[in-house]
Amino acid sequence: MVSQVVSNRVSVRVPAKINLALAVGARADDGYHPLTTVFEAVSLFDELQVEATDSAGISVKVTGLGAEHVPTDPRNLAVQAAQLLADTFEIDTDGLAITIRKGIPVSGGMAGGSADAAGALLACSVLWDIDIDADEIRALAAELGSDVPFALLGGTAIGTGRGTELVPVLNRGRRHWVLVFGESGLSTAEVYRRFDELRPDGCELEVPDDLMAALTAGPVTKLADSLRNDLAEVALDLRPELADTLAEGVDVGALAGLLSGSGPTCAFLCADESAAIDVSGRLSRSLPPDRVRRVTGPVPGARLLG
Ligand code: ATP
Repeated sequence: MVSQVVSNRVSVRVPAKINLALAVGARADDGYHPLTTVFEAVSLFDELQVEATDSAGISVKVTGLGAEHVPTDPRNLAVQAAQLLADTFEIDTDGLAITIRKGIPVSGGMAGGSADAAGALLACSVLWDIDIDADEIRALAAELGSDVPFALLGGTAIGTGRGTELVPVLNRGRRHWVLVFGESGLSTAEVYRRFDELRPDGCELEVPDDLMAALTAGPVTKLADSLRNDLAEVALDLRPELADTLAEGVDVGALAGLLSGSGPTCAFLCADESAAIDVSGRLSRSLPPDRVRRVTGPVPGARLLG
């Protein structure tokens, strides 16, 4: 990791995630759903800058993709992360200015808010020169949300529990994905509410063996056949038009189409880079080009920017 602190300002970038597998169990008494998932960090990023200023309290400014849907008050997950870190290490937060440039769609099922929380933890720990080890920062991340520890870690990893218990997965090569962003966001809470209605007993909590085998060996077509998302049925029930998008991506040459997390982003796995260029070009003919993005995975988690 390259660390560069420019006077009183620190910048980080944090990747989005997709879930190669997402198995969701029945809602527990505490309201959470047990998960077994395989995360993959992809090359779509939010950037955060934290700066010490003379003003009072914590301020946050958001620009970029869907910025108008992101709160700029204490509900912002980056603000919550900075506050949690400050409370834990007894730091005075007066004069903290956070700037977020969104590249990850808001309410897109790609954990953009969690990415910002992870970014704020990393950036503020450097800004405030806190001596925090990996276990401590992971524990704070898990308090903030299910996807926050993975946003710090990146790569490809199995997540269990609420998704916060992580084991990195060794895997081969680079995968080429085409993403189609939704016309508007889909509330994760709403998707889980509908999941509880449709699947009150939940689904089996397992990572498909064939998926694990496909990550370490074999052609990418094998991986394409073993992708799984238990929330897809529910998201398609709430947004039936997503079925057309998923079918269209495969029609134009993707190996498989997968809903990213709780949706509505659709992720298309392609055979290689040239296939991904072709698929994104074809999808851009029928969809607004700014809704289509080519990315690769896996990429590292939250990183300081020089
Ligand atoms: P999930 O991680 O649950 O799959 P998601 O990726 O679908 O979520 P997010 O973009 O993380 O969705 O945003 C979910 C909600 O969190 C939105 O209602 C948004 O207003 C709120 N939110 C709070 N802080 C942020 C942030 N920094 N960036 C994006 N959304 C935020």
